[in-house]
Amino acid sequence: MRYDIAIIGSGPGGLEAAITAKLRNKSVILFGNNNLSMKLTKAHKIENYLGLPDITGRRLANAYKRHLDQMGIEIVEDRIQMAYNMGDYYMLQGAGNEMYESSALIIATGVVAAKPLKGEEENLGKGVSYCATCDAALVKGKEVAVIGYDRSQEEEAAFLSEVASGVTYFPMYKDEPKLPKNVNIIKEHPTELRREDGLTKVITKEGDNEYGFFSVFVLREAVAPGRLVPGLLIDGPHIKVDRNMAANLPGCFACGDITGLPYQYIKAAGEGNVAALSAVRYLDSLKK
Ligand SMILES: Cc1cc2nc3c(=O)[nH]c(=O)nc-3n(C[C@H](O)[C@H](O)[C@H](O)COP(=O)(O)OP(=O)(O)OC[C@H]3O[C@@H](n4cnc5c(N)ncnc54)[C@H](O)[C@@H]3O)c2cc1C
Repeated sequence: MRYDIAIIGSGPGGLEAAITAKLRNKSVILFGNNNLSMKLTKAHKIENYLGLPDITGRRLANAYKRHLDQMGIEIVEDRIQMAYNMGDYYMLQGAGNEMYESSALIIATGVVAAKPLKGEEENLGKGVSYCATCDAALVKGKEVAVIGYDRSQEEEAAFLSEVASGVTYFPMYKDEPKLPKNVNIIKEHPTELRREDGLTKVITKEGDNEYGFFSVFVLREAVAPGRLVPGLLIDGPHIKVDRNMAANLPGCFACGDITGLPYQYIKAAGEGNVAALSAVRYLDSLKK
């Protein structure tokens, strides 16, 4: 099936885009997770969201969920690895290599906060991976490490522990990880990934310690936009868009933190609305 619009991201930007597109009778597939966004659920108190003073992030997320349920919009819990512009449609590749098609694309992934580690990008595909589900078969019976940037990555590490001979987990956050007993947790901060003697070495800042693995998985909430959609015009960590939220590729739009500062809920939601209406206009123009 080819959807009218695929939306990547379940924060306020992506959710508002989904609601608006559905109201305009477009078929929509929305990718993200049922917890919506960590940036939403982690906020203790939000004071600048119009009409909802002093709301907690959790309550705002629950209100968003009720709105989605009311409109019959489901979130597909798949992590999109790549989206390819095929000329007049987009082909999206999920974490388990599932493929999806849409005529228009809205990117609402939020922004990648962390800089790549030294050696990370050079060794991608050569002992460094961004996707546990995609590369699990390659690490069967091997020793691997997972560098997890937030708690949502623990699930991927647990999955790898069923396949690999050993998993070492480096949490890049303060919360205590909840992982199966066979996962070794090292609370040090990796600064560099180095390929040496057929292994990927993790070098940490604490005493310059060095650990060697067959493969290292670097798992963050969002993938850098230029890597997600080849050919996309980017500006640092952001996607270049015009006032219609249109990116440089035909039928491709973006909204929320990924389009630039300020990083705010209401700006993300407002841009989601504009991106969806622009995508609707684009789809209608294809019919003429
Ligand atoms: C602790 C905290 C408090 C904050 N407080 C406030 C505040 O009081 N007021 C305010 O206005 N703003 C606040 N912000 C900022 C606000 O959270 C962001 O501006 C807003 O969440 C951005 O929304 P977004 O839709 O762009 O993306 P996000 O909320 O970042 O959501 C993006 C979602 O897309 C998913 N995703 C990413 N890549 C993929 C992929 N490849 N496939 C599938 N899913 C993907 C992610 O997992 C995530 O769930 C706060 C942020 C934090 C961290």
